[in-house]
Amino acid sequence: MEKYFKELDVSAWSRKTIILDIDGTITADGGSDLDPLVAKKIEEMATANSIFLFSNKHLPDRDNDIANKTHIPLLISSFKKPNKKVIKNLPDQLKTNLLVIGDKILIDGLFAKKIGADFIKVKRLTSQSDSLKVKLIYILDDFAKHFIG
Ligand SMILES: [Mg+2]
Repeated sequence: MEKYFKELDVSAWSRKTIILDIDGTITADGGSDLDPLVAKKIEEMATANSIFLFSNKHLPDRDNDIANKTHIPLLISSFKKPNKKVIKNLPDQLKTNLLVIGDKILIDGLFAKKIGADFIKVKRLTSQSDSLKVKLIYILDDFAKHFIG
């Protein structure tokens, strides 16, 4: 059963390198509001694991705001998921035990497969202000779920 990010049981996780999606996963698309339970879950996850935030949207102000609020670094890359070069700048010792957490199977799921990571697809955070384009992409991604992984 798919869970919201804040519902994940992370108590047994350790020494993972986690690449955490932002849009749809810890905020609604383009959003910067963080549910306190999401912030708490990130904090819990960070005690025994290395976490990096990465969003394909590249909204520098918003991304930095989330990084400051969560004390989690942004993964810096000019590439976009699912391109495996996204992790090019990750130190080699952190390129093992990789885990991708995201809301899109066609982006995050494919990216995980390409970099040899485990993947957790979370229940998507949506907003009433999501644009039609964003909604259509969600529909397409949910449709793809029936055929992939
Ligand atoms: Mg997303």
